[in-house]
Amino acid sequence: ILETKNLVVGFGDRVVIDGLDLTVNRGEVLGVIGPSGSGKSVTLRAIIGLLPHRSGTVKVFGRDYQSLSRRERLETEQRWGVLFQQGALFSSLTVLENVEFPMREHLALPARLRREIARLKIELVGLGPEAHNLYPSELSGGMIKRAALARALALDPEILFLDEPTSGLDPIGAARFDELILTLRQALDLTVYMVTHDLDSLAAVCDRIAALGRGKLLMVGTLSDMLGADDPWLRDYFGGPRA
Ligand code: ATP
Ligand code: MG
Repeated sequence: ILETKNLVVGFGDRVVIDGLDLTVNRGEVLGVIGPSGSGKSVTLRAIIGLLPHRSGTVKVFGRDYQSLSRRERLETEQRWGVLFQQGALFSSLTVLENVEFPMREHLALPARLRREIARLKIELVGLGPEAHNLYPSELSGGMIKRAALARALALDPEILFLDEPTSGLDPIGAARFDELILTLRQALDLTVYMVTHDLDSLAAVCDRIAALGRGKLLMVGTLSDMLGADDPWLRDYFGGPRA
């Protein structure tokens, strides 16, 4: 469902991603890990066309986003949902309005229907009706993540891109969020691309893990493959040297 080949992304003279080959299969949950600054968020943004790439290809749903017409891009954008690292809710809109926003942009729905769908999405992510009319500044960290997830689900995406969805949550909140992602994945038949630092999330939610480092894909495999990795950063990350 998603494939990058020899993807190169950089800023000015600086190359951040230097030849990335990554495949995500339909229905799987891929966890993406790597040191801070290794380009996890940059890669995600390049995949969804928010950042132009210098060379290589990115194909989602079998097509290269950069080669699409404006109309085809809009159609493609409806088929994925994104939860950005900073939540990125519109601060001047309420939760309900935030979730309605993508439908406003992409679908010609009557306002009442749009509102009804937004209510359902908010319920789906476990927020109560009391959250509907709150502004992002009035929400807890966990509620912001859930509201952002509801917005990402607004257009019934096939792929969900999550950039550190559990960062800033306490361990119980993070575990609940992981459960939510698992439930949604099954209920909605989602493919999930999840950048994370959270070992518990990797263990609980991800089928495969891709590790980025030094501009490359260091390794891709299951959690147990990762536990046996030779790479020093991976060894430290997964709990230091083992006998
Ligand atoms: P973290 O785990 O801290 O979120 P990350 O792996 O997501 O890290 P990125 O945000 O992808 O890291 O950043 C990778 C590198 O690209 C960093 O060195 C960053 O400074 C650089 N970078 C990101 N966005 C820009 C930009 N808009 N202009 C210039 N450099 C950028
Ligand atoms: Mg990041």
